Amino acid sequence: MSKHDFNKLGYSTRIVHAGHKVDPSTGSHNMPIYQTSTFVFEDADQGAARFGGTDPGYKYSRLGNPNTDALAEKVAALENAEMGLCFGSGMAAISTVMFHLLQSGDHIVAADALYGATFALFDKTFKKYGVETSWVDTSDVEKVKAAIQPNTKVIYLETPANPTMKMADIQAISELTKGTDIKVVVDNTFMSPYFQRPIDLGAHVSIHSATKYLGGHGDVVGGIAVGYADIMKPLFGTLKEHGPIMGPFDAFLLNRGISTLAVRMEQHNKNALAVAKFLENHPEVVEVYYPGLESHPQHDLARKQMSGFGGTMSFVVKSFEKGKSVMNNVKLAHLAVSLGDVHTLIQHPASMTHAIMPKPEREAAGVTDGLIRLSVGIENVEDIIADLDQALRA
Ligand SMILES: *Cc1c(COP(=O)(O)O)cnc(C)c1O
Repeated sequence: MSKHDFNKLGYSTRIVHAGHKVDPSTGSHNMPIYQTSTFVFEDADQGAARFGGTDPGYKYSRLGNPNTDALAEKVAALENAEMGLCFGSGMAAISTVMFHLLQSGDHIVAADALYGATFALFDKTFKKYGVETSWVDTSDVEKVKAAIQPNTKVIYLETPANPTMKMADIQAISELTKGTDIKVVVDNTFMSPYFQRPIDLGAHVSIHSATKYLGGHGDVVGGIAVGYADIMKPLFGTLKEHGPIMGPFDAFLLNRGISTLAVRMEQHNKNALAVAKFLENHPEVVEVYYPGLESHPQHDLARKQMSGFGGTMSFVVKSFEKGKSVMNNVKLAHLAVSLGDVHTLIQHPASMTHAIMPKPEREAAGVTDGLIRLSVGIENVEDIIADLDQALRA
């Protein structure tokens, strides 16, 4: 347990120390990996006390494990949230939170630009269970307000969101829910707690695909949700029933990955801003979508609710063929989906992830022929720029 009041320490100190525990039995400076399914009780009374809730000790790893608890505690501290829970993936976190908050007959107001699997979850699965979604341009607070119905239970935001890095004003939208039982749920994956803290802005739950910036090294899939205890405590009940838990080894990797979050995010941000400015002036590039550019239509909102702009952007080249050619000519960047990795990752949705989608549907989803997604890594920025430049000119 902590000897410090973390809220009095600097943010980078909190990143390193929050949730970190020295192993009491060996003095091990790093927490061992508790790779165990179950925990042994000393006697029947202890077993009864643990299941009865009077003894907080561990019982069974679906019901809690030291590695996932340490991780949840760290991320909750970084978002100034009361409580956190770990999940087996970002989608496990999103679906479990939403299953918990909703029942049939309820209504979601959701951003019209969302991560693909989240869109499918609301559009197919929740519809099947009698939950309807209104898709709204959440960059316009008035449109969000107009979409709220008497049965609305969740306003679901992802900000910034692919492909145009469109943003939602978390504070203004949260204000709309004052005095109601509507919860604001924010997918904070793109910014990480380092650059954006939705709970401070009035949201009720903040979710991460920990696979991205939190892990940071492209070696683990995981999800984390943080928020107020009155939501998170009963959510733990839903997690126990649905069972999409994170394993101890993945929690260990994420705890280690997060300890360098501050230095990685600073470098991602610095590199991405330089890359975005370079691309904006490149003759082969039609448009760049990055919140850190003054040309981004919501640059002022980005400056207001984020303390940096992150490492992820999209840009548009002149044609489908050009997009494919850039993919086939990059040498340093990895052709891969995902984001938030120390490596620069690049992908051309029209010829790769969305190639099977008919063009009209694809374009309606914002995936135009020349759109390229770029997650800028922490390499030397001159090398990233030189690689993109030669690929664009090839
Ligand atoms: C990757 C991602 C997800 C899904 O996370 P997984 O860990 O792959 O399940 C959700 N939201 C956003 C914004 C993402 O980038």
